[in-house]
Amino acid sequence: MFLQRTIRKRVEVKGIGLHTGKPTKLTFCPAPENTGVYFVRSDLPGRPALAARASNVQATQLATTVGGDKFSVATVEHCLSTLSAFRIDNLFIELDGPEIPIGDGSAKPFLDALLEAGMVEQETPRKYAYINQTIYYGDADKYAYIAPYNGLRITCTIDFPHPRIGKQTMDIDINEQSFAREIAPARTFGFMRDVEILRSKGLALGGSMKNAIVLDPEEILNPEGLRFHDEFVRHKVLDALGDLVTLGMPLMGNVVLYKAGHDLMNRLVKKILESTESYRTIELGADLPENPFETQYLWA
Ligand SMILES: [Zn+2]
Repeated sequence: MFLQRTIRKRVEVKGIGLHTGKPTKLTFCPAPENTGVYFVRSDLPGRPALAARASNVQATQLATTVGGDKFSVATVEHCLSTLSAFRIDNLFIELDGPEIPIGDGSAKPFLDALLEAGMVEQETPRKYAYINQTIYYGDADKYAYIAPYNGLRITCTIDFPHPRIGKQTMDIDINEQSFAREIAPARTFGFMRDVEILRSKGLALGGSMKNAIVLDPEEILNPEGLRFHDEFVRHKVLDALGDLVTLGMPLMGNVVLYKAGHDLMNRLVKKILESTESYRTIELGADLPENPFETQYLWA
């Protein structure tokens, strides 16, 4: 039997917001079983909370924002991606401002914090969404679909008309080990021309080569270069995992993405939730005998 997980103790991640450029602090806090993942704005009266669910997502080209009428939390995907890989079911993510700290532009600061906190298993079994038949969203140019698979696998292709990016594909089975080694360190990236436009609108004020790979029309501008030769597609896998958390339950399936961004991911997640005939909820060990995920934990 595989039980729900939360973290053992509170742990903080400090940094600046990508858009505001202002200092911000995030605190991961343990949550009771069957809670799910919530963002809590500790700086606002009454400490309002909002579930990390697809219905609360305001996806943009740049990042995923979770928001309601009264408040929002921006750039959630890097922090959520670790939860997807580690199957953390119940968590409060407290924030003292409108934006998650950007860190170094990867999931590494969140992964390190969650490993420092450690995990605990709870009393109730985890339920997975197990895909029975393929669910497709998209058109000829961009698409996302999910096919039946014993495990969580991401097959992601990007194609940017840039000499240092071009077409890149990654096909990876997601577990704690593969995520920590292959995905978590991959940084976000942006083009200098877009950064200039964003700045003129008062956005990306905290963006720099400390928290993103920055490209001009020809080259990568960061003096340290890349962490992986295909860091760009790896970061897209990271983003996709973060967006999958908004399904509200861990997923078993093969997610296939072609030029997909946050908007397409949000539409795919909503379509999965609507396609109740295309998935069933299962418990590993009971409904499916074998465990396709890792047996060696990084946090034990
Ligand atoms: Zn990203």
